[in-house]
Amino acid sequence: MLPIKEYVMKKKSELKDKILIMAEKPLLKIIQVNDDYASSTYVNGKIKDINEIGATVELEKLPIDISEKDLLIKIEETNKDDSVTGFIVQLPLPKGINEEKVKIAVDPKKDLDGFNPLSHFESATPKGILTYLIDQNYDFKGKNALVIGRSNIVGKPMAKLLLAQDMTVTVAHSKTPIDTLKKLVKEADLIVIAIGKSGFLNHSFEYKKSAYIIDVGINRNEENKLTGDCEKDLPVAFQSPVPGGVGLLTRLALLINLVEAKENGF
Ligand code: NAD
Repeated sequence: MLPIKEYVMKKKSELKDKILIMAEKPLLKIIQVNDDYASSTYVNGKIKDINEIGATVELEKLPIDISEKDLLIKIEETNKDDSVTGFIVQLPLPKGINEEKVKIAVDPKKDLDGFNPLSHFESATPKGILTYLIDQNYDFKGKNALVIGRSNIVGKPMAKLLLAQDMTVTVAHSKTPIDTLKKLVKEADLIVIAIGKSGFLNHSFEYKKSAYIIDVGINRNEENKLTGDCEKDLPVAFQSPVPGGVGLLTRLALLINLVEAKENGF
């Protein structure tokens, strides 16, 4: 497996080459309606990525006391704006604004986050993970996949994508008894864990030596260090690192979605 950092650099350079020969550069618009520190860090990361591949990015910050109605009007205007290839509404949204209403207001053809159920795009984290595994020639067919976590943005779409790769997919969640989970982990060829619990998959579980583990979790441990949902150095064939793993693949997937949107004529 090519380490994720190197893989992402290679893919970005391929995207840059594609954009270089486009008659018109793709434009990503980011709508931000919060003063959240973490959210602004993500936005800055996205802006840096877009600049790196030679696309264009426009950030529109809206007042945090904006009404839901006015935000929906802004989204409608952006849907109709032909200069915008695709856009995202950065989460979280202020209290009092219905996130689900906002998600479905984004035109499915421009919904690069894949949050609208009708979106033409896959949700960035599962898409980033799948693209990485495909590009590394991972042999999915008939193997056991275990997805731990069933959120709408990671667990569920991840399970769907792995099913489409002919894997036998099981989804575990907070109500899965620990003994059941231990059995599932022992039999899994590919584990994708997204639960938000530092070091949850640890050395007390038994794993297949040939297993691949994709760690989606982003947590802070007692020393305030960034950690995943897995302990380090599990006895498996591949374990994605945190930091420097799925976060990078998620950022990459947004870029891939943007270029695809442009190639599809938006
Ligand atoms: P979430 O926080 O919405 O839900 C957590 C899920 O974990 C639930 O489905 C729950 O059933 C499951 N769960 C909780 N405890 C469990 C247990 N003991 N055993 C089995 N399942 C359990 O999920 P999310 O939004 O997908 O986020 C999960 C983690 O992934 C968080 O740490 C988040 O920060 C991280 N994340 C990272 C990226 C990235 O780009 N790297 C993207 C999205 C989310």
